[in-house]
Amino acid sequence: MSVNTTLHTSARVAEMDANPSPSSVDVEGDDDPRCVAHTKDGGRCKKKRSAKHGMYCSQHGKLIKVQEDVERRAREERAREEDEITASTELASKVDAMTKLFEELTTKMEEFKRVVVARDDVLRGNKMNTIRRATRTFLDNGNALISAKETLASSAADVKSACERDEAFRKLLLKSVENERQQKELENAVKEANSRIKKLQISRDGEFMSTSRYREFLRESGIDVEGLDVFHIIACSHGGPDHTHNYLFALGSSFNRQIGDQLDALNCFLAGIEKCNKAVAIARKVAENEELWKHVALRGRSRRVLFTEGIHRNKTGNDLCREGEKLMRDLRTAARNERKRAEVMNS
Ligand SMILES: [Zn+2]
Repeated sequence: MSVNTTLHTSARVAEMDANPSPSSVDVEGDDDPRCVAHTKDGGRCKKKRSAKHGMYCSQHGKLIKVQEDVERRAREERAREEDEITASTELASKVDAMTKLFEELTTKMEEFKRVVVARDDVLRGNKMNTIRRATRTFLDNGNALISAKETLASSAADVKSACERDEAFRKLLLKSVENERQQKELENAVKEANSRIKKLQISRDGEFMSTSRYREFLRESGIDVEGLDVFHIIACSHGGPDHTHNYLFALGSSFNRQIGDQLDALNCFLAGIEKCNKAVAIARKVAENEELWKHVALRGRSRRVLFTEGIHRNKTGNDLCREGEKLMRDLRTAARNERKRAEVMNS
C-alpha cells in the first residue's frame, strides 16, 4: 500500500469538490439543453450538453468522470488496506497460538534431554548410540524450528505494526483533507501565525526596520503602543539609522517630540550601556557604507547627516552614556533646588 498515493488521491478529491460536481447539480427540467453543472462562482454552466456526457457539457462531463475515477480508486485503496490489516492481524494471532505450543515443545525437549542423560548408564550399547543420535537430530531440528518460528513471529509483528501505522497515518491524512474549508482555515491560520512569528522575530544582530514596522512589532508583542512614538536613541538628524539597535522601544509622543534631537545622550543613558554601544556601532556601520545611507531617515530635511559627520562623530557609546548620566544628575539637582525654593516660599 502506498500512503503517498492515498494523500494524493484524497487531496485531489478535496480539490475536485471545489469544482462543479454531481452534488452541485441544478435539477431542472430534462428539456433544458444546458449543462447542469455549476461554475466556481455559483452560476450555471452556459455550455450545451454533450451527447456523450448526458446532462453535462463535455468539459464538465470529463471533469466528473475524473472525479468518479479518483473516488473509486480511493475506495479500492481503502478496501485493500482494510484487507491487509485483517490479514496481518490474523497472522499475528496464529503466531501467538503457535508461540504457546512452542513453549510447551521447548519444555518437553528439555525434559527429554534430561531423561536421556539420566538413563545413559541404563541403556547400553548400540541401542543407546541410536537413541543419542536420534536425540541430537531431534533437538537440533527442534531448536531450528523454534528459531524459525521466532523469526516468523517477529516478522509478523513487524508487518502488523507497519499496517497499523500505515492505517493510522492514512486516517490522519484523510481527516486532514476531508473538508476543504477546514483545510483552508488551517492554512490561513498557519499563514497568519507565520506572519505573526515573522513580525515577532528580530535577529540578535538586529535589523533595519521602519519605525512603523517596529511599532507594529511592539504591538504584536503585546505592548500597548497607543500614544507612543518609536524612539530613536541617536536622532536621525545625527545619523541614527532606522534599525532595531537604534530604537528605545516607544515612549510618550509628547516626550518624544519635545526632546527632539537635543538630548540623544539622555536617551543613551535611558537605553543603558549595552544598547547604547549597539546604537553607536550600527550608526557608524551605516555611515561607512553608502548602500546603507538610505536607512538614515531624512524626516523632511533636504540633506542627510551621517553619524561620522554629526555632533556625536567623535563619541563612543560610553561617552554618550556618561553625558546622559550627567544630564540626569543635573535634572535631579534642578528638581531638588526647585523643591527647596518651593519650601522656602511656603514657610
Ligand atoms: Zn458544463
